[in-house]
Amino acid sequence: MTKKALITGLTGQDGSYLAELLLEKGYQVFGLVRRSSTSNLERISHLFDKIKIVSGDLLDQCSLMDVITETQPSEIYNLASQSYVPLSWTQPALTAEYTAIGVSRLLESIRRCRPDAKFYQASSSEVFGQPDESPQSERTAFRPRNPYGVAKAYAHWMTVNYRQQYNLYACCGITYTHESPRRGTEFVFRKITRTAAMIKLGLAKELKLGNLDARRDWCYAKDAVHAMWMMLQQEQPDDFIIASGETHSVRDLVECAFNYVDLNWQDYVVVDPAFYRPDEPVQLVGCIYKIKAELSWKPQYSFKQLVELMVDHDLQELRGKESHVEGALVST
Ligand code: NAP
Repeated sequence: MTKKALITGLTGQDGSYLAELLLEKGYQVFGLVRRSSTSNLERISHLFDKIKIVSGDLLDQCSLMDVITETQPSEIYNLASQSYVPLSWTQPALTAEYTAIGVSRLLESIRRCRPDAKFYQASSSEVFGQPDESPQSERTAFRPRNPYGVAKAYAHWMTVNYRQQYNLYACCGITYTHESPRRGTEFVFRKITRTAAMIKLGLAKELKLGNLDARRDWCYAKDAVHAMWMMLQQEQPDDFIIASGETHSVRDLVECAFNYVDLNWQDYVVVDPAFYRPDEPVQLVGCIYKIKAELSWKPQYSFKQLVELMVDHDLQELRGKESHVEGALVST
């Protein structure tokens, strides 16, 4: 029988990759999308004829119950959230509504309408905030340091509590930063690959960045969604760290991206304190021992491969736009 999966956050970076993966694996895929007055379906436009879009919102309990009742999924992946840390400082209550209470609504909907569905919750390394150990494991204490991390910690513990109290197959993947060509340019990784490509093509002159020594554990979103799927294929639900297990500095990233397009990064990068994070997390790096040992998962793409594939994508996309503009100019 065909397996059915419901993805919330379908229009986001991870939602689009997860939908592709599940389709490859033969699932019928439903994607929860909230109403928008303009289209936000760009990341999934290539999947329109293969997936079914259903209307709902994490702010609205009835919509979630209706969608789950109508679609009867055997797997539910909650990827929806207000996922941008800086915005969580300016809109902390909204962040809590989406990212924390939204998960309560979803869990309660599953408990009432489809208690035998398997549930994946997108937790975040931001729950560790200022961790007292490095690398962090599934046993590291949560000390979130921003409203996004606090909301994710609430959602994480609600998921664990529903598993314990109601025996739901509910689990959390604590993902560290993961990137792809579908990432927004407000995130530093994509900002760097995009701007390096723009400078190479003569479309930009400089790249303004904050703390070049900030270090992150970055992996590829395609690798991350594969881990999410594997977590729901186990006999017993459990929580796992999903990470590369290594850190690189923003400087390493800049150097790698600019080297790839044969440019000297020092000629273009301008350090601007306006881009410093208000509260820079210390050395967030995941220990991936458990997921490697129990699920045989490990990232398939290295840091260098990820940087290069993103720069390649940005070069190609920008060249496409350039020729489009040139074509338009010629034809007018
Ligand atoms: P993203 O690109 O920001 O996508 C977020 C998705 O959530 C979008 O589809 C958005 O829909 C949807 N959404 C927001 N509010 C909603 C609401 N009230 N009801 C229904 N949908 C709503 O995030 P991502 O990078 O794919 O990340 C996926 C998940 O992993 C998120 O929960 C994120 O917090 C978590 N995470 C991500 C990373 C990372 O590095 N990417 C790291 C750790 C954890 P619209 O298109 O309508 O806005």
